[in-house]
Amino acid sequence: MPKSLEFTILATHNFARASIMRLPHGQVNTPVYMPVGTKGAMKGVTYQEMDDLGCRLLLANTYHLAYKPGGDLLEKVGGLHNFVNWKHNILTDSGGFQMVSMSKLSEVTEEGVKFESPYDKTIMYLRPEDSIHTQNQIGADIIMALDDVVRTTTDGPRMQEANERTTRWLDRDIAAHKRKHDQNLFPIIQGGVDPKLREQSLNDLIKREANGYAIGGLAGGEDKVSFWKTVAQCTTKLPINKPRYLMGVGYPVDVVVCSCLGVDMFDCVFSTRTARFGTAFTDYGFLKLKNNQAANVFEPIQKGCQCQACKSYTQSYLHYLIAKEEVACHLISIHNLNYLIQLMLNLRQSIIDGNLIEFVNGFLKKWYQKEGKIPQWIIEALDYSKLPVQQL
Ligand SMILES: [Zn+2]
Repeated sequence: MPKSLEFTILATHNFARASIMRLPHGQVNTPVYMPVGTKGAMKGVTYQEMDDLGCRLLLANTYHLAYKPGGDLLEKVGGLHNFVNWKHNILTDSGGFQMVSMSKLSEVTEEGVKFESPYDKTIMYLRPEDSIHTQNQIGADIIMALDDVVRTTTDGPRMQEANERTTRWLDRDIAAHKRKHDQNLFPIIQGGVDPKLREQSLNDLIKREANGYAIGGLAGGEDKVSFWKTVAQCTTKLPINKPRYLMGVGYPVDVVVCSCLGVDMFDCVFSTRTARFGTAFTDYGFLKLKNNQAANVFEPIQKGCQCQACKSYTQSYLHYLIAKEEVACHLISIHNLNYLIQLMLNLRQSIIDGNLIEFVNGFLKKWYQKEGKIPQWIIEALDYSKLPVQQL
């Protein structure tokens, strides 16, 4: 029987790596950005469009799918791949994070998470066994462990408790997992920004010998120095031959820096959420298409971009459309997704070609041109990755 995940590293630059991850629904080139493919963030972007953008691994929210169409129906049709006619790979989250973030009332006990449904106000339970059962029904290629979610900036006994409970829940997840042959369960490293707790979580979870690992509990309001140091602590310690997924990080600069620190997978709703407010990603930072300035720019969002928006429309026209129609947000979403997917591909290629230093310097020079200065934390993080950066 073929393995459910094979990870082959093609080239490295210190911690950074260009790899191929083979999953049940095909090959994924990493580092990779994964768009969120269900409900909310991807409004209006179709699966066909994501396929056209080159997306080979997308993220789906267990929480929304469990509510509608429901796990039983998805199981009946042979899983989410069949239901939505997506032939590439899918990753599902555990549902825990969304339940806690969307519900006004939630309570965590050793048994699981108790919360009030934001849809119909009924009280529901999510135990590790429930999350894994639903994820088995959905049938994604990568599924996530249910963790005890706490704010990144929490410290003291509550963080310690969450850390230890996450490991106990992982053992229940593993016991409940019925499709080990074709679904990969990724544990989530916790510990906030406390190096001792991170170390403990790393030790406990690495012992469980998963096919890949996620770094959780970041992008939650911590300072940038703590952020990169925590990422580096995890990537230094995690097994080299397994993929690492940094959860909830998708700001272009963070994705570049963390790829250099050895992260392989990213997800974040920021690219499409910010598109809804008319903000586009460019090599020179963020472009606010709602600003009146855009009315007089008869050029695409970014010259040379091959996305549908840039090939067909000027900034001036998109500015005019934003006030009137949803289609503008759709076009900017497509552009932003394309930007991140291409950014990852170019970074990956530079690792293979042996010129990651030039790539990173070129990227930062343009991104921070307006500000005139690269933030110190970036220079330090890249220095740690043996990537000397020239200040502007
Ligand atoms: Zn574009």
